[in-house]
Amino acid sequence: MTKPKVAFYWCSSCGGCEETVVDLNEDILKVAEAVNIVFWPVALDFKKKDVEALGDGEIAVSFINGAIRLEEQEEMVKLLRQKSGLVVAFGACAHLGGIPGLGNFWTRDTIFQRVYKEVPTVENPEGTLPQEKTAIDIGELTLPKFYDTVKTLDQTISVDYYLPGCPPPPDLIMNAVNAILKGELPEKGAVLAPDKAQCDTCPRAETKPEKISIEEIKRPWEIKIDPEKCFLVQGLICLGPVTRSGCGETCIRANMPCRGCFGPVDGVVDQGAKGLSAIASILGIEGEEKMSDEDAQKLINQIVDPAGTFYRFSLASSLLRRKRMS
Ligand code: SF4
Ligand code: SF4
Repeated sequence: MTKPKVAFYWCSSCGGCEETVVDLNEDILKVAEAVNIVFWPVALDFKKKDVEALGDGEIAVSFINGAIRLEEQEEMVKLLRQKSGLVVAFGACAHLGGIPGLGNFWTRDTIFQRVYKEVPTVENPEGTLPQEKTAIDIGELTLPKFYDTVKTLDQTISVDYYLPGCPPPPDLIMNAVNAILKGELPEKGAVLAPDKAQCDTCPRAETKPEKISIEEIKRPWEIKIDPEKCFLVQGLICLGPVTRSGCGETCIRANMPCRGCFGPVDGVVDQGAKGLSAIASILGIEGEEKMSDEDAQKLINQIVDPAGTFYRFSLASSLLRRKRMS
């Protein structure tokens, strides 16, 4: 029997999604046994021309991680789309833009200025910036275009399924691989994780009251965190109310609030806005009374980096998408 062909590709991401494939441990042997990996630049020496030589739709499934920032990434994912029956957005950056998507708070020029000229560890007296074309004695060197705006995978090509998480956990990956092999996939466009919020599965859920009265919002390093109590009760921002479950509450069990990497549950179009509204609705009281505007403002001011807190993983996929530049 011919094994289904599978490809993996890495766009703008930290590489953690590729690590998690290795974290399948002995299950990776089962995957390797069941499929024929035809492209995996991080691990195997296939070239772009090998993908180009395949027929359209010949790859059964391409798992693509990372957001789209570079011209090269756009070109490769369009090629993989053409050659693949299914495309899975693998991990938070492909799914929502992820941490690279936070770059949408700046422009290409301000990022280059900061990274290549201003950071204290850079020594660049001539202020040289990367060029798309550089003439050298024996010809011309080229670099892919660095786009001004980071996009999610589905803002660039059509995506069939989403494996959420930063990175997706091995059990969800194995479930997805098994469902693909058996042809038991849900409707196109589904996120391959439970449609429940973290609070529904959280081991601390019983300690979360409906309304919470807190005097001060804290950051995790500022207090000794109680390992049993809901983080919100302790004044820590936890995005559990607006984040999809399925990670096994990884951060929460390690005594860290949920930062939202699994993205929203079905039907929520803007995880950050939903998070803001969820937190605002449970914090705005003092005992039995509604909090005064002044006290509410004080609490709001204590949220350091609200945009980065609520849109940490989802800015590129949000209604906002990027900061508007005049
Ligand atoms: S807010 Fe966070 S800690 Fe509290 S119940 Fe929800 S997921 Fe758990
Ligand atoms: S607890 Fe939240 S941030 Fe942590 S892995 Fe799960 S979804 Fe991601």
